[in-house]
Amino acid sequence: NVVHHALEKFCQLFETGAETNEEKRSCWQNITDKKRDELLRKINSEIIEKSGINVSEEPKMQSVFSRILSTVTKASDMIILMMKRGKYDIYANEMEFEDFSVSGASGDVLFHGIIDRLDVFEEDGKTKIRIVDYKTGDKKFNLADALNGIDLQLIVYAMAAEKLIGGNSEISGFFYNSLKKKVASCKNPEEVASEVSKLYKLAGTVVEKMLDNTYEIKTGADMDCELISTQFSSFLPLKLTTKGVYDRYSSVQNPEFMNEIYRNVRNVASEAAHAVEEGDVRVYPYVTSSKDSCKFCPYASVCMYDHCRGVEINTGQHGRELLNEIKKNNQ
Ligand code: SF4
Repeated sequence: NVVHHALEKFCQLFETGAETNEEKRSCWQNITDKKRDELLRKINSEIIEKSGINVSEEPKMQSVFSRILSTVTKASDMIILMMKRGKYDIYANEMEFEDFSVSGASGDVLFHGIIDRLDVFEEDGKTKIRIVDYKTGDKKFNLADALNGIDLQLIVYAMAAEKLIGGNSEISGFFYNSLKKKVASCKNPEEVASEVSKLYKLAGTVVEKMLDNTYEIKTGADMDCELISTQFSSFLPLKLTTKGVYDRYSSVQNPEFMNEIYRNVRNVASEAAHAVEEGDVRVYPYVTSSKDSCKFCPYASVCMYDHCRGVEINTGQHGRELLNEIKKNNQ
């Protein structure tokens, strides 16, 4: 993917010459718009050169390259914001893993994946891990979907990252970063800035410890140093109430809850592996109030699935019940 490689290159060029984490952090803290634009222009020229296309002879391609540049620019702005506002450093871009496995019918089934960006923050002998996955489309994160086996990606990445980094490491957050161009729908011009910041927030969750039944405001503040003073984060799914605790719409989980999620996601992945190996290909689509797997499915004419025929559907109930059960056990 051109955009992913361009972002990897952007981070590498940005940190060129910096050896220690302090030096790298200083690069991000002192970035200027001029420097950012200079790097983006360089990356854009490299992309065009590598493609072998002569844009002056193919004007249509000019708009393709300018769209790529606009996506990379937007994503780079988010990277700069995250690096400036938080204590996390980039550990790796495009990090490959291939030794995460679950048990299948005839042995272990290996997962192979590439984590777009893995950031870390060292504290008290612990390595805290943050995962960012770039999406060219719009992507929401929903734990019930993960527990239903529909969207395992971020949870599998979290487990794989803990294994990759090893030692005393733990996940502290995982997010989708949607790069899709969005349009603010508010009518009042004064609301535009806050509407735009909502549209481009990361989708995922922050892992926070609980103290006396209340989440600490620690990981969130380590990722966004303005969270406590402004009572909300412009890029994380976090907001504080007037009492200084996370509001009900903030996406926060505690570490014990994460262990339960890991266990359940492993189970659902293992069940899927068994089903595939045993040839279970029954028509059982995932259709909930917010998601319809069949809507744009190119195989609809092959599987002959028709909503009206009364074929059994997966309503996502299983995941939601599991989620409520886990939440209850952790209260
Ligand atoms: S149309 Fe058929 S193949 Fe496609 S998601 Fe629905 S059930 Fe599955």
